[in-house]
Amino acid sequence: MQIRHIKDIEYRLLPGTPRQTTDIVIERDGCITVRPPARMTPEQVDETVFSRRLWIYRNLAEWRDLNATRVVREWVNGESFLYLGSAYRLLLVAEQDEPLKLKDGRFCLLRSVVDAGGKAAAQDAVRDFYIGRGRVRLAQRVKHYAPRVGVQPGAIQVKELGYRWASSLVGGGLHFHWKCLMAPAKIIDYIVVHELSHAHQRDHTDLFWNEVDKVMPDYRERKEWLRQRGAEMEL
Ligand SMILES: [Zn+2]
Repeated sequence: MQIRHIKDIEYRLLPGTPRQTTDIVIERDGCITVRPPARMTPEQVDETVFSRRLWIYRNLAEWRDLNATRVVREWVNGESFLYLGSAYRLLLVAEQDEPLKLKDGRFCLLRSVVDAGGKAAAQDAVRDFYIGRGRVRLAQRVKHYAPRVGVQPGAIQVKELGYRWASSLVGGGLHFHWKCLMAPAKIIDYIVVHELSHAHQRDHTDLFWNEVDKVMPDYRERKEWLRQRGAEMEL
């Protein structure tokens, strides 16, 4: 991957594809990635990106609006955490048998975790919680949807995936970002169907969306929800 600049636009140039169109995406971290047709030279890609600058500026502005509300964690009582689309308040507790538990509608975090390891340790505890719950839920949902999509899924992993919600490997393996667990169940199901459908079609072509549509006719609403609200799903 190469970082390129055209006037005031900086973008990540991804490897070319056999397709005829150039895919320009504003990623969750606000970076622009561009996947061009393989036949294009980098200079031609620069031109294409520049010709679509109005669309890019508009979408970057929208991304900034959506991200302006991002929380800064202090790890104090009362802070709000998302789990399956609902907000839970943080409660620091003196004693419990696990670092983090969801109990009586609260995210109960062992105070000694924060005292000893600070924000990083608190974040790890919450991340481990999402990963643990995610393994169970995502395995269930993949099992539910795989026959509907008509695919045989491989091993599932829940992990840190940077700016991506999920990815599907060529052998059928599926990786999900632990942040998926912050989203409502309906949205998690969309992410699952989306990834499973990649076993039929690697790229986001009309054929791909047609596969998603067969299993989940209201996928557009769910996809739009994720686009608008995904930025809130941060620790
Ligand atoms: Zn995809």
